[in-house]
Amino acid sequence: MTTAALIVAAGRGHRAGGAVPKQYAPVGGIPVLARTLGIFLDHPQVDWVLVVTNPGDRALYEAAVPAHPKLLLPVAGDETRQGSVLNGLSALEAKSPTRVLIHDGVRPFVSPATITAVLDRLATADGALAAVPLADTLKRAGPGDTVAATLDRTGLWRAQTPQGFRFAAILKAHQAAAAAGRLDLTDDAGVAEWAKLTVALVPGSDANRKITTAEDLALAEQMHASPHIRTGQGFDVHRFAPGHHVWLCGVKIAHTHALDGHSDADVGLHALTDALLGAIGEADIGTLFPNTDPRWKGAASHLFLEEAARRVRARNGSIGNVDVTLLCEAPKIAPHRDAMCTRIAEILGLARDRVAVKATTTEGLGFTGRREGIAAMATATVILR
Ligand code: MG
Repeated sequence: MTTAALIVAAGRGHRAGGAVPKQYAPVGGIPVLARTLGIFLDHPQVDWVLVVTNPGDRALYEAAVPAHPKLLLPVAGDETRQGSVLNGLSALEAKSPTRVLIHDGVRPFVSPATITAVLDRLATADGALAAVPLADTLKRAGPGDTVAATLDRTGLWRAQTPQGFRFAAILKAHQAAAAAGRLDLTDDAGVAEWAKLTVALVPGSDANRKITTAEDLALAEQMHASPHIRTGQGFDVHRFAPGHHVWLCGVKIAHTHALDGHSDADVGLHALTDALLGAIGEADIGTLFPNTDPRWKGAASHLFLEEAARRVRARNGSIGNVDVTLLCEAPKIAPHRDAMCTRIAEILGLARDRVAVKATTTEGLGFTGRREGIAAMATATVILR
């Protein structure tokens, strides 16, 4: 059994505006058509991929689409979509595939699972198409901007592609439709239905959207543009002073000493604040919250961390994960680890599994080994869009 994918990309796409037809417009730096082709070329059940193009787009096609052993030479499209598909099917006859998947070049977000599901359905149906049940209420417009009626949406689905068929059956159906002058059928399932083939609905996904307008293109760019991942690191030390408790990672812990500092001296949150500020290339905590400023005298350090998070969001960023290591001989951190992670997650508005706190001694070596103070280091990742 062999399978061909026929990608229809002959439209001029003027609705999307722009300098090039929409199938050649970049999303995240990669042309829409190249994204679409990549999914079919990578699919293990697809043996050949053939694209129907507009002859005027030859240079665009060659620039957008790299050579691939499964990729056949493109075929020229026709005035209508139906005619373009028939040209493609006729060209595929030489390969005589068992099955063919017909897909819009401007649906670059189809999932491999949807392709597999459509192919699987062909075991017992002549045709199968990806589709989603209609979720919105349907209105029929009356005069002006008025509503004439609310329609029953029960049993209604929105047709997508891929639409898969047994090859011989769909080729014959397209030839018959063309011979009968039926050039008004808007999709290949429609051609199959007209020819009395059995066609099944396969649940698709809303993500499998068609890029038709400039708005679709902007939305796709927003959703799929490659994010920039940044990392930052922070390090801090505070010395012990007389007292009965320390603040570490937002948690108050009874201890033989306190930590000395202008604020509450939470060395863990200070290191983490610097890690976040570092990830977005901003000034460090000492510059933003100088210890000469009376406003920060005895301040709770979650204020600093919240400000760093606010600055991340102001750059349209989100925090990927944060990781803090405390270096000390005492107090014992393990009993407080979970509370520390929960508190940091709360301050930053993160899921708990994006936060880690751990601790180590320094084997009695150095200032932390001599119990003169506590050190902390932290890393953070930030995703900028
Ligand atoms: Mg500090």
